[in-house]
Amino acid sequence: MSWTPRRVILALLVIASPSMALANHSWGGYHWARTSNPFTLKTGDNVDSNWQSYFDAALSDWTSSSVLNLTAVTGTSNKHCSAVAGTIQVCNGRYGNNGWLGLASISITGGTHITQGTVKVNDTYFDTATYNNPNERRHVMCQEIGHTFGLDHQSTDGSSQDTCMDYFSNTGANAGSTLSTRPNAHDYDELVTIYTHLDSSTTVKSAAVMPPAMEDLVLDGPGQWGREIERSEDGSTSTFELDFGHGNKILTFVNWADGGQADVEDRSGPRDPAK
Ligand SMILES: [Zn+2]
Ligand SMILES: [Zn+2]
Repeated sequence: MSWTPRRVILALLVIASPSMALANHSWGGYHWARTSNPFTLKTGDNVDSNWQSYFDAALSDWTSSSVLNLTAVTGTSNKHCSAVAGTIQVCNGRYGNNGWLGLASISITGGTHITQGTVKVNDTYFDTATYNNPNERRHVMCQEIGHTFGLDHQSTDGSSQDTCMDYFSNTGANAGSTLSTRPNAHDYDELVTIYTHLDSSTTVKSAAVMPPAMEDLVLDGPGQWGREIERSEDGSTSTFELDFGHGNKILTFVNWADGGQADVEDRSGPRDPAK
């Protein structure tokens, strides 16, 4: 059997890639477990009419991937955008002046498998003149949903790679630019890289058991993210950790930006189902 050598080669590639020209933009190797491709993720629609067209566009854009399809389902209409096992829930609301425009959260079981995801976009900023334009809305909606598949940013220096997974800002002089409002070819290639292997089980439909202390947390600002465990040399990104013990953690990945614009992702896991 060729399984062992193939796995060794893949592991070496993942370790070596961050410093290589052809970078790996997987978010920590996290992915949905599934037994076949393409797989379909139910995406809860909790957005209002100001966001509906951007929600629809993001689902259509990501469904162009050869490995995954997104189908819209009725949302939970929960104010805090509670996660639902086996789904992504997408919400908008006035979450306050807390430094983030959009937030993506993924829950992890067994170290790598995503069990559920949530996306929030913050109308406290999007209702202001600076951010209230179609290109910025589309960019942020597309990016936060992309994180829930395990995609990381392609770039955080503010330049446009013409992908919604970069840190280009469609504001100010760039408010009319449609650059970076959709995935690019590298995103679709990265999804193939992440999802080519198949798993023996699926998290796409399962009901994961969560430790009660980790449910329904509101993680809107630095005071709620726990301990800062890592900060990039240029200060543009930080990682925070909330440790629940027994291997259960919530990590919050913060991309700080000028002008109060931060893009935040938090992830939780791994969970101990035997707890
Ligand atoms: Zn897997
Ligand atoms: Zn992001």
